[in-house]
Amino acid sequence: MFTFADGRHNSLSATSHPESALIAIPTLSSGESVPVPKTFAAHLLAWYDANARPLPWRENRDPYRVWLSEIMLQQTRVVAVLEHYRRFLKKFPTVQKLAAARESSVLAAWSGLGYYRRARMLHAAARVVVKEHEGVFPATSARLRDLPGIGRYTASAIASIAFQEPVAVVDGNVERVVSRLSGCPLSGDPAWKYAEGLLDSTRPGDFNQAMMELGATVCLPRQPRCLLCPVAKFCATRGELLATRPAPKQRKRIACFGLARRRDAIYLVQRKKTESLMPGFWELPQLTPKKGAAIAFSLRHSITITDYTVHVVKVEDEIDAGGKWIPSTRLSSLPLTGLARKILRRAEIL
Ligand code: SF4
Repeated sequence: MFTFADGRHNSLSATSHPESALIAIPTLSSGESVPVPKTFAAHLLAWYDANARPLPWRENRDPYRVWLSEIMLQQTRVVAVLEHYRRFLKKFPTVQKLAAARESSVLAAWSGLGYYRRARMLHAAARVVVKEHEGVFPATSARLRDLPGIGRYTASAIASIAFQEPVAVVDGNVERVVSRLSGCPLSGDPAWKYAEGLLDSTRPGDFNQAMMELGATVCLPRQPRCLLCPVAKFCATRGELLATRPAPKQRKRIACFGLARRRDAIYLVQRKKTESLMPGFWELPQLTPKKGAAIAFSLRHSITITDYTVHVVKVEDEIDAGGKWIPSTRLSSLPLTGLARKILRRAEIL
């Protein structure tokens, strides 16, 4: 039995565990080590080899493809990324093509994924790779971190998956898995140290993907599927340490937008370059909701912790909201906000 700095206990111990060969993981602020059987990685990797989802970025270890997937997957679920990833790769199949593209065309291809700062950083990083590294990605996590938009997690993910550098990764899934394995809520540096202690240095990329896959498909936030877990016998909690952070409360708001059509053109306004959210993107003009206005249709749209009920009103009169009439044929190549895209699709214009 091991005692954590905060007084919690870990039931994994050298004497009680059926596996005898142990590695020590220096993770705790007290300097204490948690013993983990060396066979942990073997169990996890065998499960991953048999159960990994066939995702398009797992088809090969090309650093460009790995990098693109890691950036797209930040704050976005796998199912939402799949189609975007394929389309983006078709349009920009190499880092050279991406670097040579105009920003508006990169943003248009990113449309629907949200968090557009990621697309701008992706574009900026592609230009650095082409200009300063002759189109070849730096092969270590330390050098990858010099690229725009690449932090500790992304650098370690690319370096381990594409270049087999023995570095661990910790995202939200891995943080939850190591917390439950250890029996102590771990975040920040202790979580990274714990994950590094578990890492299989012969297959670091697969190991990291296996840890993330375990968190995404088995060690789920609310109801971990411990009966299916390949490392249950190494787990201190087996599901008892549930989500530690309560989900933030959603706010509800109403918004109203005007849909103005003239022959084959739609009236859109461009968001100011100084806006913190989606600067430079195009959207429908926002109107003040009026009682009795003829609503053409309504839809729901969520942005982070706000759920909007969006009413769309047809505008027949002259309109002057500082926007422009955009021909329908140009819409698909224009950086539109996610909501504008949703409204235009619903109106069968896109
Ligand atoms: Fe997560 Fe349960 Fe596996 Fe522990 S046994 S790692 S809680 S799925």
